[in-house]
Amino acid sequence: MTPRVLLLDLDDTILSYSGVADELWHELAAEHAPALGVGADALANQLDTSRNWYWTHPVLSDEGRLDMRGARRRIVQHAFEALALTAPAVGQQIADRFTDTREARVEAFPGAVDKLAQWRAAGVPLALCTNGHPDFQRAKIERFDLEQYFAAIFVEGELGFGKPDPRVFRGALEALGAQAEEAWMIGDNLYRDVHGAQEVGIHGVWVDHRGRGLPDDPIATPDRIVTAIAEIELGA
Ligand SMILES: [Mg+2]
Repeated sequence: MTPRVLLLDLDDTILSYSGVADELWHELAAEHAPALGVGADALANQLDTSRNWYWTHPVLSDEGRLDMRGARRRIVQHAFEALALTAPAVGQQIADRFTDTREARVEAFPGAVDKLAQWRAAGVPLALCTNGHPDFQRAKIERFDLEQYFAAIFVEGELGFGKPDPRVFRGALEALGAQAEEAWMIGDNLYRDVHGAQEVGIHGVWVDHRGRGLPDDPIATPDRIVTAIAEIELGA
């Protein structure tokens, strides 16, 4: 089935977002561990554990997407507590350095922006549906000059709700003048992007950007799986 319109996620779909995080946390751990009197590996491992705790927490993760600076501070605080470190100012400094540096290190996936340009040139209406705070999401849209490709842009923090809320997908369909069965939603998050879209009858395309394949017992069964949007050929 060839879609008439496309809905796209931003982070880890068009832009490489998660990839820089592991590297950066480990760099910050190595830099600060000696002064804290803790091993760099111990601090890096605990930060990994605390990130996982935070981002899989049903309440905190929802709050954190709209307050990334606060989220990182809470993660480092959690790690410091686990390691019995009592230097809250250093913890906050590490968290804020992460927030400021991470955004600057985000890059577009190879060929992703060219693909948007190609779809746009072919007359395929596109909508961007991104969760998160407008300050961060709009800054990335501007930095990569993405607005020109989209007929409509939906940012969670501007709407007051985000994917997988069906209102996001219905709003995008309405903005593009399309029915659900004419649309594909393309994103890396199985729950928010794929499951959310499928719930309203949109074809769900999963971007497996890590190339790890579906987890055991996935929350959604994608209609199609790619490792990058550059691979997608409409009509193929
Ligand atoms: Mg994403």
